[in-house]
Amino acid sequence: MKGLLPESANDELAAVCSWPDLREVCKGYPWSGELHFADTPDFECNFDYRRDCHNAANVKNRCVIGAIYNYTIQLKSANYQYGAYSKYNLTEALMFLAHFVGDLHQPLHLGYLGDLGGNRVFVKWFDKKTNLHRVWDDEIIDTALERYYGSNLTNLIEAIKSNVTDNRFSEIKSPKACHRSVCPNQYAAESVSLACEYAYKNAANLTHLNDDYFLSRLPVVEKRLAQGGVRLAVLLEEIFGAKTRMQKQSKLYLRFNRLIK
Ligand SMILES: [Zn+2]
Repeated sequence: MKGLLPESANDELAAVCSWPDLREVCKGYPWSGELHFADTPDFECNFDYRRDCHNAANVKNRCVIGAIYNYTIQLKSANYQYGAYSKYNLTEALMFLAHFVGDLHQPLHLGYLGDLGGNRVFVKWFDKKTNLHRVWDDEIIDTALERYYGSNLTNLIEAIKSNVTDNRFSEIKSPKACHRSVCPNQYAAESVSLACEYAYKNAANLTHLNDDYFLSRLPVVEKRLAQGGVRLAVLLEEIFGAKTRMQKQSKLYLRFNRLIK
């Protein structure tokens, strides 16, 4: 896998995980914007691939879950024994895949269509005007960083890692039904239900959010970061460690085709 990383990453996948969010990538790859999320109908707390995975023009499979299937298939299609020859740009595929698995675990990337996943829910976060989507993307993490981790991201990452190794989070791995493979539908369903239960709850438009909200939601954010990381590692192991790649690939195609019919 390391062979696919750009030189700037210094063999660290984490260094390029946020690449798809960079301004020049959003501009240079305008088609990728709609792949960071999937919205559900307002107040629906479940995920239905056929109903929810499409873009604004209703083109099917254009959403974060469809993108994860697509990049998994691209990466699985290459034969790494003979160099990573592929008609796809596998470096980009890997960077998109890693990022989208993270996005998928952020509950408001599976929020309601009417408020664009919380982007149109305007709130105050302590003294700052922002929106609910940003609270979940950045503010909760930034407040925790400042308050508990000396504004040092490495400290936060170490804390999450030790929670993972101490098994302090339940259901961190994939459900058994996923066969250790790619199962974004389940992760999406989890995110939607967390969006209903935690993100939107007590956070209507123009609400002032402070410690009550922060302290009760931070454990959810930390758990989702941990789950996203562990599940990405399992997925990459499955992609790059696969022995019977062709068999597994055709199985994945079958599953994908069944899904999109
Ligand atoms: Zn994103």
